[in-house]
Amino acid sequence: MNDKILVTKSSLPPKEEYFKKIEQLWKTHWLTNNGVIYNEFEDKLKKYLGCKNLELYVNGHMALDIIIKALQLKGEVITTPFTFASTTHAIVMNGIKPVFCDINETNYTIDSDKIESLISEKTTAILAVHVYGQPCDIKKLSSIANKYNLKLIFDAAHAFGVTINGESICNFGDASMFSFHATKVFNSIEGGAVIYKDDIYSRDLKNLRNFGIEGPESVISVGLNAKMNEFAAAMGSCNLDYVDKNIEKREKLCQYYVELLSKVNGIKTINYNNNKKLGIKDNYAYFPIVIDENQTGFTRDDVFKELESNNIYSRKYFYPLVTEFECYKDKFNTDSLPIAKYVSDRVLTLPIYPDLGIDNVKRICGIIQGMH
Ligand SMILES: *Cc1c(COP(=O)(O)O)cnc(C)c1O
Repeated sequence: MNDKILVTKSSLPPKEEYFKKIEQLWKTHWLTNNGVIYNEFEDKLKKYLGCKNLELYVNGHMALDIIIKALQLKGEVITTPFTFASTTHAIVMNGIKPVFCDINETNYTIDSDKIESLISEKTTAILAVHVYGQPCDIKKLSSIANKYNLKLIFDAAHAFGVTINGESICNFGDASMFSFHATKVFNSIEGGAVIYKDDIYSRDLKNLRNFGIEGPESVISVGLNAKMNEFAAAMGSCNLDYVDKNIEKREKLCQYYVELLSKVNGIKTINYNNNKKLGIKDNYAYFPIVIDENQTGFTRDDVFKELESNNIYSRKYFYPLVTEFECYKDKFNTDSLPIAKYVSDRVLTLPIYPDLGIDNVKRICGIIQGMH
């Protein structure tokens, strides 16, 4: 029996490098709250991303929650149902009504042509997701946000390392959130960041992650505890040195996937070549395929099971749609989400991580081709 292959595998730096980085902590005993490694990591990230304003957090979800609080969003926020639970939870937790917009068929991000009809006098923002690291229609979203005076926020949890014409994807809109969770392209074990345009949010983005504390005798807001600790910052700092190399390795594997699966009629993959033409540099964070059962003769669930019986674990990511979750079912209008429903019922993300190996990609594709 072949070894178990999971859908992803967390990246780790050489352990000597990590140990060396954290060794100083046994001298300083300074483990969290604006530590030396934290500050070093923050600077390193700003340079890597070419961004002006960046704040670190304990995880991506708290980062998103704090964006919503700092930008004082309320009323209604237009968002996508084709995402991880975090995006919607952050909206709802803040007492805001999510208004779900359908996705496009090309890269599964929010359909910018369908947003305007959802805007009401209560709308305060658009919260879009660069799902699978695929960029939203940033131009159109920006122009809608401008026209209606809405904030534009990106959940860029999947999109670390993605650039558009050389510019990091985090530098668009009012604010973007990255997740540095262990399963993401780039990790700090757990972690997150907010990149934002306007300095006026700096004060709240900082104090909200530390109980609203601004000084020893000054608490200015009802804040959270969402700080990144030194061990996480050290992991992030070490992993950052390898992220570009890891993305290159992912790219090779994805090219094999695309080539081998293009032989199966009815399997749609991300169009990386088209992205290149648009000036997009992908990060190959996930490898989603959408299976049209009328052409393939088998369903997404058939592929999931066939791979599982070969000890290969793919994921139905994102199924079910957020709007189908027990906690949200029948609470929101879901009539106009046909593409999101179609994709969610047919999508499967295949294993992808830097050292997956071409042989494993060939084996996975061989199994799928064999079902044809
Ligand atoms: C991972 C993820 C988050 C949450 O990030 P954490 O760091 O796990 O809290 C939010 N949105 C999306 C789309 C994600 O994939």
